Amino acid sequence: MPLRSPLYSQRSLVLTLVALLGAGFLATSFLSYYASRASIRDTIVNTELPLTSDTVYSEIQKDLVRPILISSMMARDTFMRDWVVNGEKDSDKMTRYLNEVMTHYGAYTAFFVSNTSLTYYHAKGVLKQVKATEPRDAWYFRVRDMKDPYEINVDPDLANKDNLTFFINYKVYDYNDRFIGAAGVGLTVDAVIKLIDKYQQRYQRSVYFVDSFGRLVLTGAEGGPQGARIGQKLGELDSMKDLVSRLPKPHSGSYEYSVQGQGHFLNARFIPELNWYLFVDKREDSALGEIRQSLYLNLLICLLVTLIVLVLLNRVIKRFQDRIQAQATLDSLTELPNRRGFDLLAAQAMQESRREPKPLTALLLDLDHFKALNDTYGHLAGDQVLIGFARDLESCLRHSDIVCRWGGEEFIVLLKDTDGKTGLMIAEKIRQHVEQQHYAYNDKALRLTVSIGLTTLQPDDTLHSLLSRADHAMYRAKQSGRNRTCVEMPHSVHEPA
Ligand code: GH3
Ligand code: MG
Ligand code: MG
Repeated sequence: MPLRSPLYSQRSLVLTLVALLGAGFLATSFLSYYASRASIRDTIVNTELPLTSDTVYSEIQKDLVRPILISSMMARDTFMRDWVVNGEKDSDKMTRYLNEVMTHYGAYTAFFVSNTSLTYYHAKGVLKQVKATEPRDAWYFRVRDMKDPYEINVDPDLANKDNLTFFINYKVYDYNDRFIGAAGVGLTVDAVIKLIDKYQQRYQRSVYFVDSFGRLVLTGAEGGPQGARIGQKLGELDSMKDLVSRLPKPHSGSYEYSVQGQGHFLNARFIPELNWYLFVDKREDSALGEIRQSLYLNLLICLLVTLIVLVLLNRVIKRFQDRIQAQATLDSLTELPNRRGFDLLAAQAMQESRREPKPLTALLLDLDHFKALNDTYGHLAGDQVLIGFARDLESCLRHSDIVCRWGGEEFIVLLKDTDGKTGLMIAEKIRQHVEQQHYAYNDKALRLTVSIGLTTLQPDDTLHSLLSRADHAMYRAKQSGRNRTCVEMPHSVHEPA
C-alpha cells in the first residue's frame, strides 16, 4: 500500500480544517443574516408601516375629517336653511355667515350655492351664477344629482404642488327634505403634504393616497410611486398593475411587490371618511442595507480569522515537524546527535573545510572496558556514565565542533579549523579529563578511561575513509593498552610521545 507523504497529509489536514472553519463561519453568518432579514421584514410589515399609517391617518383626520364635520354643520344650520327658504334676501347676511365660518375654523374658503337662484355665495361676497354649460361648474350639478350626502373634490385647476386645495361639497336640504343647494369649505392640505414629506425623507418610505378608482389623489412634494403625478391611475404603472387589481375593497392589508427586481413592502389602509386608501410603501434595500453591510463585515472577519488560523496552524505544524526531525537526529540517552544527525553535520563541515580551505580533525572515542563496568554495576550505571561522559566531552570542545554518539560506547568528534597537532592536544585534554573524573551512581564514584583514534581530513577523503582511518587509530590505541590517543595519517602512523 503506498504511504501518504507527510507533506500531503499536512496539506489535507490544513485544507480540511480551513474548509470546516470556513463552512462554519459562512453558515453562521448567513443564518444570522437571514434571521435578521426575516425579523426586519416582520417589523416593517407588522409594526413600522402600520405605525406610519396610524400617524398619517390621525393627522389626516385633523386636516380633512374636521372640515367634513364643519361642512355637515353648515348643511344642517337653521340660519342657512331659513335664509334660503325665505328667498335669499340680503346677501350680506350669507356673506357674513360664510366669512364667520371661514375665519373661525381656519378654512381656505367657505361657500354656498343655491339651487333656486344658482347663485354662488362665498366668504367675500357673491361670486357668480353657476351654469350647467360651464365645465368649471360641473361639480355643482354632480353634487346635486349624487346619492351620497357629500363628496371631497380636488380641483385640478387649483391643485398645485405646494398649495393643493380640496373642497367638501355637502348637500343642503330644507325641512321637507327638498334639495336647496350645496355648502361647504375649501381647504389647503399643506400640513398633510409636509407630514408626508417628513416621513418620506426621514424614514425612506413613500406615503400617498389613492381613491377608490385607483387614482393617486394626494402625496408629498416629490410625487407618488415612481414619479406618478396626482390624478394618475396607479394601475398604469407596470409594477403596481397587479397589486392595484388585487386590492380588496374596501379592506386594508400588507402587500409585497417589486419594481425591476427591487422588493417593496406596502401597507394599504382604507379611510372610510374619505373613501380613499392610504398607502405606505418602503423599499426593501433601504431597510436591509445595514444588515447587508454587517454581513459583509462578518464575512471579512471570518476571512481574517480563517487566515490567522491558517498561519498559526502552519506555524504549529512546522514547529512540530522540526521537533520530530530534531528528535530523529538526536540520541535519546545523551542528547548528542546520533549517526543520522552526524551524517548531515559532517557533510556540511567537510564541505566548509574544503571550500575555505581549513584543516579538520576527526576523533573516534571508545570507552575502555565498558562491558565490565556494565557487568559490575549494572546497565543503568553504564547509562549514567555515558551521559556524564557526553557532558564532559562537550565541556572540552568549542560550540562549533561536532560531536556525536556513534553507537554503544563510541563517540566521534569533528574539530573544525583544527590541524592534527592541535587536535592531538584536544584529544589528550579529553582523555586526561575523563581519567580524572568520578561518575556518581548510587553513592558510588565510578572511574573511566577512553581510547581515542585521531586523523585529519585529506583532499581525497570521503567521510567513510576519514572515519575508517580514525577507527584504525582507535583500534591501535586499544591494542597498545587503552587510555591513550593514537594518530593515523595516510601512509603515516604517529604515536603520541
Ligand atoms: P573495550 O575496552 O575493548 O572497548 O571493551 P568494552 O567492554 O568497552 O568493549 P565491547 O565493545 O565488548 O563492549 C561494549 C559494551 O558497551 C557492550 C554493551 O553492553 C555496552 N553498551 C553499549 N551501549 C550501551 C548503552 O547504551 N548503555 C549501557 N549501559 N551499555 C552499553
Ligand atoms: Mg566499543
Ligand atoms: Mg569499549
